[in-house]
Amino acid sequence: MAARAPDPMRRALLRGKAQPSTVIRPPWALAEPEFLDACSRCNDCIDRCPEQVLAPGSGGYPVFDPLRGECTFCGECASACSTQALDRQAVRPPWHWIADISGDSCLAQRGVVCASCQDGCGERAIRFQPALGAVPTPIIDATRCTGCGACVGLCPTQAIALKNMPWKESSDAT
Ligand code: SF4
Ligand code: SF4
Ligand code: SF4
Repeated sequence: MAARAPDPMRRALLRGKAQPSTVIRPPWALAEPEFLDACSRCNDCIDRCPEQVLAPGSGGYPVFDPLRGECTFCGECASACSTQALDRQAVRPPWHWIADISGDSCLAQRGVVCASCQDGCGERAIRFQPALGAVPTPIIDATRCTGCGACVGLCPTQAIALKNMPWKESSDAT
């Protein structure tokens, strides 16, 4: 097996000189330090993803880009991972990301009728709050949202981003 190229990001993280990344790793990724240690940057997960929503990120490590489309949680990426950096056998959810709407950018919250995000959500995690004499505005139901990212690319103003929810992680552990 070829020697792995030095990776400054991993070195900095292990020395405590860098914060764990806030990038979105593929589903079922190990916690960031363990992921960086295990991932060989082979790109097998990227190549296997039928939705083509994975791409090489900083240092060549794979990231999920919701602007490319939706993760269907098909598991192909994890099946392709020979190092178990993506570990689908672990009894835990694929990740803890959920959609988050920025009020400043959302058309509906600025008084313009729009429901593109709701149309794309197969989980029915986005509902619109009616208001007398005002345009209904979207609300994310955190208990239903899987963080699939389908709504992110559909929003015409890029008002939606995926946000990590550590509270979900701790509640899963109980
Ligand atoms: S679970 Fe499927 S759709 Fe999601 S990133 Fe992995 S291969 Fe792609
Ligand atoms: S698609 Fe974007 S702009 Fe439209 S209602 Fe949803 S979050 Fe707001
Ligand atoms: S991330 Fe997926 S499940 Fe969550 S609100 Fe957007 S489309 Fe719905």
